[in-house]
Order: sequence, then structure tokens, then C-alpha cells
Amino acid sequence: MQSKDNTPRIIIAIDGYSSSGKSSMAKSLAKSLGYNYVDTGAMYRAVTLYAMRHGMIATDGTVNADAIAAALPDIAIAFERTPDGSQHTLLNGEDVENAIRHMEVSNNVSPVAAIPAVRHNLVEKQQAFGMEKGIVMDGRDIGTTVFPDAELKIFVDASAQTRAQRRVKELVEKGIPASYEEVLANVVHRDHIDETRTESPLRRAADAINLDNSEMTIEQQNQWLLDRYHEAISKLNA
Ligand code: C5P
Repeated sequence: MQSKDNTPRIIIAIDGYSSSGKSSMAKSLAKSLGYNYVDTGAMYRAVTLYAMRHGMIATDGTVNADAIAAALPDIAIAFERTPDGSQHTLLNGEDVENAIRHMEVSNNVSPVAAIPAVRHNLVEKQQAFGMEKGIVMDGRDIGTTVFPDAELKIFVDASAQTRAQRRVKELVEKGIPASYEEVLANVVHRDHIDETRTESPLRRAADAINLDNSEMTIEQQNQWLLDRYHEAISKLNA
């Protein structure tokens, strides 16, 4: 598929650790290129919110994997652009963008995302989003499992402390209360579950380009990513 100026439209996979800033970078790149943006973490969070609301996660965090797997056909996830240009996640038609960012969801999401049936279901939906190309997708397994043939793969990392600080700032800006210690513990815990699960663990694809953005401003990150995009396009045209 090509755009009007004959530039090929590609798939851009941005993977990395929790709160590494990959969503902000991915969103900004999608906007600059006129591409669609898909936040796959939001999809796992929406399934988790549904499971919490339907008593499938006990207060001690025990997850009823069978019940969640059986409920998947009842869970519709969509994205909607709001008038201010931001993207909101819809769960069965309800705007849950704010609800899925709360700490309760963050604390429960990784065990839910480790359920093979959940991963199969969401990976299939994510692959469908990419059929037309021209997409920037961020997550943990986009370059390895969802789009192993993506034309551009980025793997983002930063220290756990930097990531926790960023997450607290983001949450506070959204009016969601969060303490640094709680967020840091959550970030480290989620990384561990994401890296050690058997089904598509968080892993850098062999052909991904690394980015440690600990010391970079948002503008530097956006420019770095645009440069990688232009390189990927020149390679295709070579
Ligand atoms: O990106 P975000 O932090 O919102 O993702 C929430 C959680 O969803 C992650 O900690 C991870 O457990 C899960 N996830 C995943 N695979 C993806 C995206 C997110 O397992 N592609």
C-alpha cells in the first residue's frame, strides 16, 4: 500500500518496558506521518478492567483465567478520536480511557496479559488493525509476535527510576493520585511478569533498534524516531 506521494506505508513496532515513554513517542510519530496509532497496553488494560468489574479477579489478585477466557467474546475494544485530537479506549462502547490508567488496573494487568487465550485474542485483533499498513503500534511483543515482519522495529528502555518518575507525572497530570514508591514497585513487578511469562514474553526482537531515552527530551525522542522512519523508507526504496 502506498500513500498519495508514492511513499510506501509501513508498519512501525515500538516495544519496551512499562512507562518507557513509548506511547508518547508512538503517538507523536503516528501524528506526524498521518498513520493510525494503536496502544496495545490499553487493550490488555481494558480486558483487565472488564475482569475486575465482573468478579474474575479476587481482592488478593488471584485471576480466574478460565472465566476471563470464556468472557473474551463479550469484550469489544475500540479506539475513538476525541475532539481535542487524543485517542480514547472504548470497552463495549464505554469510554474507559481514564479508568484503565488507575493503579488497581496497573496492579492486575500483567497476570491477565499472561493468559494465553487473552494474548491470542488480542494479537489477532492487533494484526487486523495492521492489515492496511500505515500504523504505529506500541506494546511488548509487537516486533516479535504481532508483526515479526514490521519494516521498522524499535525497542525502548530507560532506568526503572526514570520510568516511575515519568509515570507519576503522567498520572498526576491526569488527576489520578499516585505515589513514587507505589509506581516504582508496580513498574518493576510488571516488568518481571512481562519478561518471565511463557506466552510471548517481553523480549527485544533481534532486528529491533535500541533506544535508551533516559537522558532525552521528548523533542529529541521524536526527532530520533522520525530519523529512523526516514532510514527505513530509504532502505525500502533502495
Ligand atoms: O503499555 P502499558 O504499560 O499500558 O501495558 C500494560 C500491561 O499490558 C503491561 O505491563 C503488560 O503486562 C501488558 N502488555 C502486554 N503486551 C503488549 C502490551 C501490553 O503484555 N503488547
